[in-house]
Parts: sequence; C-alpha cells; structure tokens
Amino acid sequence: MSTARTDKMLLFLEDDRDLQTLVCTFLRDKGYQVTPARSAAEAREVLQSKPVDAAIVDGLLPGMTGADFIRELRQTKPNLPVLFASAFWKDLKSHELLTRQLGVARVVHKPYRPEELAVWLEQLFAVVEPPPPPSESLGSMDDDEDDEPVDDFAASLALLSADYGAKLPERLASLQALFGRGRHGDAAAMEEAYSVVHKLHGTAGSYGFRDVSIAAGALEDVLQPVKTGGTLDWARVDAGFRALEDRVSLPVLTPEPEAEEAVVAAMGTLLVVDEDAAILADAKQMGDREGVRVVTARSPQEACAAVERQWVDGALLHMGSAGLATANALRAMEGHQSLPLAFSSTGAGLQERVHAAHAGASLFLPRPFTQQDFATAAERLVTARRLERAKVMVVDDDPEAVRALSQALVSDAVEVVGLENAYGLLDALAQHRPDLLLLDVQMPGPSGFDLCRILRLTPEWQELPILLITTQVGLEFRLAAFQAGADDYLAKPVLKEELRARVHARLERARLSRERTERDALTGLMLRRPFVEAVATRLSEARRSDRPLALCFLDVDHFKKVNDQHGHLAGDRVLTRLGRLLGARFRREDLRARWGGEEFVVALLGETPESAKEILSRTAEELAGMAFESDAGHTFHVTFSAGLAVAPMDGTTLDELLRVADARLYRAKENGRNRIETE
Ligand code: GH3
Ligand code: MG
Ligand code: MG
Repeated sequence: MSTARTDKMLLFLEDDRDLQTLVCTFLRDKGYQVTPARSAAEAREVLQSKPVDAAIVDGLLPGMTGADFIRELRQTKPNLPVLFASAFWKDLKSHELLTRQLGVARVVHKPYRPEELAVWLEQLFAVVEPPPPPSESLGSMDDDEDDEPVDDFAASLALLSADYGAKLPERLASLQALFGRGRHGDAAAMEEAYSVVHKLHGTAGSYGFRDVSIAAGALEDVLQPVKTGGTLDWARVDAGFRALEDRVSLPVLTPEPEAEEAVVAAMGTLLVVDEDAAILADAKQMGDREGVRVVTARSPQEACAAVERQWVDGALLHMGSAGLATANALRAMEGHQSLPLAFSSTGAGLQERVHAAHAGASLFLPRPFTQQDFATAAERLVTARRLERAKVMVVDDDPEAVRALSQALVSDAVEVVGLENAYGLLDALAQHRPDLLLLDVQMPGPSGFDLCRILRLTPEWQELPILLITTQVGLEFRLAAFQAGADDYLAKPVLKEELRARVHARLERARLSRERTERDALTGLMLRRPFVEAVATRLSEARRSDRPLALCFLDVDHFKKVNDQHGHLAGDRVLTRLGRLLGARFRREDLRARWGGEEFVVALLGETPESAKEILSRTAEELAGMAFESDAGHTFHVTFSAGLAVAPMDGTTLDELLRVADARLYRAKENGRNRIETE
C-alpha cells in the first residue's frame, strides 16, 4: 500500500529534531507533503498559513503537553484528523480521554517506527472509520453471552450464520438503492454504500461466505474515490456490484456445513460403561433429560474405542467385574490421565470405596442410580473437565465479526468469550483469564496495536498469546503488528481452517511451555513449587468443609542399588512408570508431585489415615507387581516406603504435615522398607 499522497499536507509537531528528520524523510518518500514544527507557536503559524489535512502531535512539547495543544487546536479545527504520539500513556483511561474528548484518531506509542505512522496515515485517508458510538461502547460486556453455556452459543451461532446468509440479498438490494441515489449526486448515500461494502468485505468470509467477501473487497477498491474525493468509475462500480450479486444469488447460500458442531448443544458428553444394556438405555434417557450427551460402552475395549472417537468430559463406570480395569484402561490413554470418573456399585463398603478412590472415582453412586444421582454425577464430572478447555477471547467492534470468529473457534476443547468494547479489555481479561487473545486491529478507540502494547507492558499479560486480525495485508502492517508484540497475524476475510490451525498451534505451544515450567519431564507429575501452592488451597478447602486431608511422602526403596545394579536408564524407567501410575490413579482433584530424586508426594482430600493407607497400599501392590527390565536385559522389581500425615490430626499447616510425614517415612525405612507408616 504505497499510493502517492502528494495531495495530502501533514503538520508534524515534534520537538526532537532527529526524530523529525527521520519521519519527515520517510513520509515524504511515501508521497506526503510534510511541514515540520518544533513548538506550539510554530505549529500555530503553519495552521494559519497552510491547508493542513492531518496533524501528528508529540505528547510532550516545550512548555505544554500535546494534549493541551490539541485542546487549543479543537477551538478552530474541530475535525482535523490528529495522530498523537506519546511515550507516557499506557492505560486505557488516558486513551479514552484523548480519543473521546480530544478527538484524536490514533494514539501511537513512542518509540514508534515510521512505517507504523505511515500505516495509520494511510488508514486515515483511505478508510474513514465511523466515530465511536458515544455511550454504547462505554458499557461493559454483553452479559447475555456470559451466562449462556458455550455449546448453546455454538448452536445459536450456526443459526446466526444461516441468518447472515439469508439477509444478504436484502443487503444487496439496499446497496443497489444507495448506488441509485449516489448516481444522482447523493454523497451521503455513497458514504453509506461504502460502509456496507466495507463490512461485507470484512465479515462475510468469516461467516463462511468467502466468495462474497472477495467480491465485496474488489468493489471496495473501486469505491475508493468515495473516500479520497476522486471521480467514481460507474461502469466499474456496476460491474463490481453485478459480480457481488452473482455471488449472493448462487443457489447454495449456506456456509460450510456446521452440522456436527451444532449438535454439541449438550451441556457435555458423558461415557457410561456397564455390561447391562437396560442400565445403558436408562442412562441415555437420563442424559436426554439433563441435556447431557451420553455415549455408552459395555466393555473396557468398547470404552477405549469410544474415547478415541470423541471427546468425553467424564466416565460413569459400573464398579462390577470390569469397572476397575476400565478405569485403568481409560486413564492409560494419551491425554486422559486425569479423566474424571464416577463409579456405581450395589455395595458400598469401605473396601469398595477405597478401590474406587484409588482407581480415580470422584464420586460413588448406588446401582441402579436414580435421575438425581445421574444429574449430580454429570454435573460434577462435566464441570471438572471444563477447566481443561482452552479459553479464547475475541475482541472486535463489529458484533457480527465477534460471532463469526467465535463460531469458527468454539469446540469441545475451546471456549470462546466475545468482547465488542475494547475499553473493557483489562477487566474482561481479569474476569475470564483467557489462554489466547484474538484482536481486531481497526477499531474505534484503541486499536489492536494499542491494546497489544498495553498488554505487553502489563506483567500479568506479557506472555498471553495474541493474534491480530485485520483487512490490511501490507508488509508494513505486518511489521507494525510484530513490533507491537503480537504473536501472529491474520488477514480478513479470515478463513476458518486457517484461523483454527493458527489458534490451535498457539494454544498448544502455550500449553507446552506451561507444562515445561510446572511439570517434571521424566514423570509428567507436578514439580515441587506448584504442588506446594496447590496444596495450600486444598488445605484451606479441607478446613472450611471440615474434612481431613492426607499427605503422603513416598520414597523408592534402595534406589541407589537399582541404579548401580540395573543401570541409570533402568532407574529412570522406574521413575517414569511410577510417575505415570501416580498420575493415573486417584481422583482428578487429588495432587501428586515429584518432590525430587526418587521421592514423591501425594495429597488426598477427604481421606482418613485408614482409608488413605488402604488407597496407597493398592498403589504399592501395583508397583510391586510391575516387572522392570535392566539395561542388560534382566527383570527386576521395586518397592517404595511411605510416611502418611493427616490434617487436622497431625498438623494444620503444610510444613507441619510434611515434617510428620517425613519422620514417618524415615520410620518406614527403619522398620524394614516396603511399608506405609501412619504413626
Ligand atoms: P532408601 O531405601 O533408604 O531410600 O535408599 P536409596 O538408595 O533409595 O536412597 P538414597 O537417597 O541413598 O539414594 C537415592 C538415589 O536416587 C541416589 C540418586 O543417584 C538416585 N536418583 C535421584 N534422582 C534420579 C534420577 O532422576 N534418575 C535415576 N536413575 N536415579 C536418580
Ligand atoms: Mg530411596
Ligand atoms: Mg531418597
């Protein structure tokens, strides 16, 4: 985008001579006429003697602030486009003051690159944006969207998309009418026509009407003289309109099929495993009543196959013959180590509950279970996994664009929050804590660039992945995007596949880097620091709900010998498998970590010394039953010793519990190893 701008006269008010030279040279090379001024007095003179089309004003001038100067300027030139360059403002409040009260078109952060100014100037003269709606965009987020479950949102979005398609012929008819008036000299009609075409260009593609977007983009180019004041080539306008009309009147005016996602209107998906077909049929009906999609299986094999085919939020298993095997098989699958589980059983003795807790049951139901039991289980299981969903926040001033982008992204694994008012961004971030931010660049008020910079200056959001979306595609713009600290960049019309691919790639990378800092690579378990933080929360939960919390230190027996006799690699394999075992057993809300070396720590919420000891004994048995292979190919076995401390009996702080558990671990070693001490 480097159209000559010889017809545009710029006032450049900047007291730094070096910067002035650089920018003037650059902008003149771009074809602008630039008149520099080094003080407010010089600037006043320029304004009186020359027809200035836009002004670039420095934030701090000799003797006054840039804002003071603009306030004064507004007395005589209320509509002059102004770019304000400042190194000092960082917050949305002052941005709001500048843009709303002083009518600044863009606030540009210093230090800026001249390319960036060029981008904004280009925009200033090419596309005059509608002024920010004064009160509406000051309001906070659309509350409706917040309260609705995301999947309903997805379903309604699919409808909206069809709706958008259905309204296109109508929009074209009104566009045609506007052109009719424009042809007879109605300038306001042409302004409106331009805006209609511009929006079609930016949004239709996001709704799946890619060809409409492309045709509108071509027509927008032809309509440029509306903005720049040149003469319109009506023959080309007509041709462009006909091309657009062709796209809209094509027989199939539906976006790409969304059927599958539209079905995800349920609250979540629950896998029910039972060998009794009647129970499965009941579960399906209960699911229908609760708005939960129920997937059924009758064996561990069927259960694994079902989980491979689709996302499930949790599993409800019959404790009977195959229940524990099913739990273990599911949790052994890639990505399902902490799948939320519930068990149903005809008996409910301590032994059964212990087995269920060890296998990972967050909930224990009678069998047959009632509608109420089912509802409770479904809710507990489904909410647990919801937290694992990645959250994406979409910020765009065009509500249609927000919906289209949300629709493209929302899925079982991704939740989307939309925001139409950029001024509310910081609050919305604090409230929703998204994993990724999708920002429109051209918005009234702070641009995507501005927001990006603000976030990069805010320690809390420095690492947040940010993708910018814009209709501009030039190299300069891309440079400016990265300069502002964006991670990636997408051009409108946004193609759904590309959007998904890029967003997912970013999310995945962010997840991996989080794991690297919080998880131990060898065992896949939490590291000591995040464990300590998480346990503090669990401890206060336990205190509030008056429940016990069991903390257990585990230490592999004679591990030095394992290394010496079987090789260090074999030693590593032992740690990996024990880590995996600890990761896959217990309820998802329990905590386990690698404390260091061959020491592990586990926190079980709500367990007494007796039940916790039972649960851990099962882990000990499982480990003892595992056959390991030495580096030389021999088979060997390992055991662990453990010390158990339970709050509130043995202490109420983490330090106390750790000290007691450690002392008991020492005693377990003294007493012959391969045992768990509780006192
Ligand atoms: P005890 O039964 O009394 O616990 O004896 P131990 O040999 O297990 O205890 P000790 O603390 O003397 O030795 C622990 C050994 O664990 C020493 C260290 O080399 C080894 N170790 C620590 N971290 C790793 C690891 O990541 N991989 C391997 N292979 N060995 C490790
Ligand atoms: Mg040891
Ligand atoms: Mg040790």
